[in-house]
Amino acid sequence: MTTKPSALDPAVTERIGAFLRAHGLRRMASRIAVLAVLEPVNGHLSVAEISQRLRECLPAGTPPPDLATIYRTVTTLVEQGVLHALTLENGVTTYGLATDPHHHAVCTRCGSIIEVPAQQLTSALEHAMAGSSFSLSERAGLTLHGLCPQCQAEGQEPRIQPRQR
Ligand SMILES: [Zn+2]
Ligand SMILES: [Zn+2]
Repeated sequence: MTTKPSALDPAVTERIGAFLRAHGLRRMASRIAVLAVLEPVNGHLSVAEISQRLRECLPAGTPPPDLATIYRTVTTLVEQGVLHALTLENGVTTYGLATDPHHHAVCTRCGSIIEVPAQQLTSALEHAMAGSSFSLSERAGLTLHGLCPQCQAEGQEPRIQPRQR
């Protein structure tokens, strides 16, 4: 394999390569590219969104991995515990880094997902356990719904909507 995502910062490629090796995984270009896209997100992306972002960050002339390759890549990374999957109510499966225990906040308007560190919701979980007979763990993964910062900002501006009569 000589193809490599040349638009990626060599330091990032190096660091993610070392990370893959630490997990006993081969440093394939597609794995490095997918992780490089997901790393700064601090949330989840679907395969289509990963593909879209790869297309934006690779230079013209560098073909991005196709959807099937990205799908295989994220599936392998989930199996290896590097990523974890979250399926939304609309049936779309999204992928995020499986690092520290975290919960998810889903934007009800645009569907973006950010991760909320579990420790920020420890007392919420304790209260929920006290009020129910459920045993809830930080690994259980709460899904919260609301508006992301971008959609909040858009909600404050008058939206220009085409009028149809
Ligand atoms: Zn997550
Ligand atoms: Zn949003």
